[in-house]
Amino acid sequence: MHNIEQNLHDVRNHITLAAQKCGRSPEEITLLAVSKTRPVEAIAKAIATGQREFGENYVQEGVEKIQQLANYHDLVWHFIGPLQSNKSRLVAEYFDWCHTIDRLKIAQRLSEQRPKNKLPLNVLIQINISGENSKSGILLEELDDLAAQINSLPNLVLRGLMAIPAPEDDTQQQIAVFRQMEQAFIKLKAQYPQADTLSMGMTEDMAAAIACGSTLVRIGTAIFGARQYSPSTK
Ligand SMILES: *Cc1c(COP(=O)(O)O)cnc(C)c1O
Repeated sequence: MHNIEQNLHDVRNHITLAAQKCGRSPEEITLLAVSKTRPVEAIAKAIATGQREFGENYVQEGVEKIQQLANYHDLVWHFIGPLQSNKSRLVAEYFDWCHTIDRLKIAQRLSEQRPKNKLPLNVLIQINISGENSKSGILLEELDDLAAQINSLPNLVLRGLMAIPAPEDDTQQQIAVFRQMEQAFIKLKAQYPQADTLSMGMTEDMAAAIACGSTLVRIGTAIFGARQYSPSTK
């Protein structure tokens, strides 16, 4: 699993096949390479094969990589980890996207802290679609209110929704959960035309996510191999 170039090629093929299988165009689906815990050398290899969008979960680690790779001017950095208020400034200053908005306060801070010389920060509202107590994200019932509030903030653009469903081996079960996200996304798009992004699908469930309208899959393991330390390690 150490051949990042081959792995990226395989993942892109996998996305293309999954899209074709459900009559979608592969171009509708962005591949986000999730590079948390990986060294910049691994990211540089992915860049060399044409990968441009990267996802990071830990603020400090992500900012260090963004700084180290700053001579590549066309990279797009997505913050995809849980965000605490005291770290919001770094996300506002360094990242292009934040996928994990689940309360107004953090959105307000990001909007206030977004530098004036940068484009607005692209944000996604995270939905706790499996209804797990331990997970971040809002419930679907709360979406209308939070979307309206975020849409009124000057330095953010509400681009769509994100979810991390509870792990599930059965594809039909994966699809049942992703369908709820698809419905919510269709409703959101009807109200907010700039909402064009449905972030769902990871290494184990990307095909099911694509079958349910995902426009961005977040893939770590299938590109970079198994992670060496646990995601809970900050
Ligand atoms: C780690 C992570 C991923 C990537 O997961 P893989 O199973 O390694 O593909 C995607 N999304 C989020 C939010 C993550 O934390």
